[in-house]
Amino acid sequence: MTEMTSAATKKRRNKLLRMIPAVDEVLNSPEISKLQGTYPRETLRYAVQQIIQAKRSHLLQVMDSEEINTSEIKIIDPAQIDAFIARRKECSLKRVINATGIIIHTNIGRAPLSENAVNAVMNAAKYYTNLEFDLLTGKRGDRYSHVTGLLQEITGAESGLVVNNNAAAVLLCLATLAKGYEVIVSRGELIEIGGSFRIPEILEQSGARLIEIGSTNRTHLKDYENALNSQTRLILKVHTSNYRVVGFTSEVTLSELSRLAAKHELPLLYDMGSGNFLPSRISGLKDEPTVQEEVANGADILTFSGDKLLGGPQAGIIVGKRRYLDRLKKNPLNRAIRIDKMTLAALEATLKTYAPGQENSVFLPAVQMLIKSPDELKQQADILIRNLNEHCPAVNAEIVKDVSQVGGGAYPLYNIPTYAVSVDPFPLSASQFERKLRFLEIPVIARIKNDRILFDLRTLNDEDLSLLPNLLADLVKNDR
Ligand SMILES: *Cc1c(COP(=O)(O)O)cnc(C)c1O
Repeated sequence: MTEMTSAATKKRRNKLLRMIPAVDEVLNSPEISKLQGTYPRETLRYAVQQIIQAKRSHLLQVMDSEEINTSEIKIIDPAQIDAFIARRKECSLKRVINATGIIIHTNIGRAPLSENAVNAVMNAAKYYTNLEFDLLTGKRGDRYSHVTGLLQEITGAESGLVVNNNAAAVLLCLATLAKGYEVIVSRGELIEIGGSFRIPEILEQSGARLIEIGSTNRTHLKDYENALNSQTRLILKVHTSNYRVVGFTSEVTLSELSRLAAKHELPLLYDMGSGNFLPSRISGLKDEPTVQEEVANGADILTFSGDKLLGGPQAGIIVGKRRYLDRLKKNPLNRAIRIDKMTLAALEATLKTYAPGQENSVFLPAVQMLIKSPDELKQQADILIRNLNEHCPAVNAEIVKDVSQVGGGAYPLYNIPTYAVSVDPFPLSASQFERKLRFLEIPVIARIKNDRILFDLRTLNDEDLSLLPNLLADLVKNDR
């Protein structure tokens, strides 16, 4: 861009921005001041402020690229204010339909809970509970006792602890066991996952010193051995859950690390990310060891999320040797990242489905989506097409084969074959259609592929199959 055009552009931008009216100007305008009888003054002012702010950010986005309708900038319509205030009565956090095919989608709340877990949450929310009250003795009880037995039984570990999320779990382990000392990590495992969780930064927060070893693609046992000294307090292994180093690679196995750690009397901490209890013959996830296997392979402490593939609520689960977990429990930081009663209730109900002898974890929604068979997916696709033809025949839809993903930064290379219903957005563009879907009464989050909208059957349940056509009928009615 030349100096001249940039000056001209700047001038045009400023001119447009100046057209946005001031808050008081709007409030005192004849049309808007009429609303003063309808809404409290503060509400009206807040609505006007927010609408003006939204206008401003929209304008900043489009002002260089689109023809601008200047009267739209200047005028604030009383109907807009009515709509804004009506919307504010609804909760901002609301249900959406996940048609993305990504099972563990962090932005839309990761794993949905099972019916049993939901009921447990309701009970814990509505009534008093024996959260920290021992009904046997009538004395103070242990918050964690509701899940530690289950965790020991399922994973074979000596002890268990649960905290707010996995990031907090890792932080607690490092701060308790290695603060002021050195932690050895392979360069191939210095991960960043979404939402600014970075291993080097978590280490810094914990007060431990990061000792990087090896190279991005290759780390050997002797790299660990050479880094050991009197300042070393912990060996950390991290599951590279959202990427893979492929090609000329070498990684030290957990068992090898376990032997090394034991020899030097150091704890081996393994951040597994998405903890998985399901054997691969059920989950279909190849080369992905379960938590129980990694406990057996000699990790002293393992941490993982409750709301990834486990299919439960947001939580950080820690299992491992009692002598380390007892120290974690006593750290005041543990109190600051404490799990709440509703989460604990959901977690217990979820863990119960994995308990040996009463396994019914295949009924957890996240697991169901993962193991849905091609036949089931195809049947669901047929039903969705039939419902679409009935309720919204204007939509041109067909069944296509595609791939779904586990998500949640888990199993990055693992594409699961799926069926999707592909919709022609005409006369809208795919991105216009996708946007309209997000503004429906129940917003629908879909995928765009080759200028068409895809509804992936993997993450849709039977209820969604009847809801979706009705919602689409509204979209089509209002916009064509
Ligand atoms: C997801 C993940 C985390 C963070 O877990 P949260 O439960 O989101 O806090 C940490 N480490 C790894 C390897 C992960 O995959």
